[in-house]
Amino acid sequence: MTKQTGSFFKNAPLVCPNCGDEYLRYQGVEVYCRDKEGGDLGSMTRVSGGGTSITRGMEGNPSKRGDGVVITFACETCDYKSKMVIAQEGGQAFFSME
Ligand SMILES: [Zn+2]
Repeated sequence: MTKQTGSFFKNAPLVCPNCGDEYLRYQGVEVYCRDKEGGDLGSMTRVSGGGTSITRGMEGNPSKRGDGVVITFACETCDYKSKMVIAQEGGQAFFSME
């Protein structure tokens, strides 16, 4: 595997996974923090235009055993709701735009 160093995606516009348009509107963020790796309990903090909430569930966590972050966007062209996902799996952190 080739190692990459330096800044990535710096000032690069996000692209809608459905239509390819660059006009995405931020909707909110969910942050999942497990009490312990692989545990069923933890804190999920959701921040959106509707306010902030904190719950104890891990439902929706993109990581099977670790922590995760989901940032939701709405496409201004096709209304598709996309998600920027960061999932901690063991010692690695994975990024995806879904
Ligand atoms: Zn779109």
